[in-house]
Amino acid sequence: MTPFARAAQEAAASHALDRRDRELVEMAQEATARAYAPYSLFAVGAAVRSNSEAIYAAANLENASFGLTICAEAAALSLANSMGDPEIEAIAVVGFDFTRSADASGIVAPCGSCRQLIAEAAQRANCNVRVICCNARLDSIVISTITELLPNAFGSETLLGRPQWAELHRELRASVERLIATRKTQ
Ligand SMILES: [Zn+2]
Repeated sequence: MTPFARAAQEAAASHALDRRDRELVEMAQEATARAYAPYSLFAVGAAVRSNSEAIYAAANLENASFGLTICAEAAALSLANSMGDPEIEAIAVVGFDFTRSADASGIVAPCGSCRQLIAEAAQRANCNVRVICCNARLDSIVISTITELLPNAFGSETLLGRPQWAELHRELRASVERLIATRKTQ
């Protein structure tokens, strides 16, 4: 049995989730309304929950130059990072073809690129992030972990010899503070 099939037995519908996960999947569902998906006609919403219990939700953003399209999961992860709250512990994903909304029964899972992004977010948070994949009606839900969806992921530990990000990040913050101080005295 695949991890997906096993997990599907554990949580088949949103009412089987606890209150926190239910809120997460509902925010992902609501984010699908903000999709810019004129080409695929496939709206995706994603919501991540950080260790501080904040939820950041986003939708897919397509582009006529297809390769530039930004997935909802990537946008939500970027939003959490941009808000200074990058340590996530769960992500919910909802998607459906909105031209055939009667057929909103299929569960959507993150694409390969997004699995890689989630894997690195999980590494930053030192947490095996839970990935809650839902259909648009939230009556079919599969819960996995990122290590199940992307085992043996490529990660920053592979890039040996690089300075530690924590140290570099302190330098970055100090640089920005100096720039801001300069701005105020101008
Ligand atoms: Zn993706």
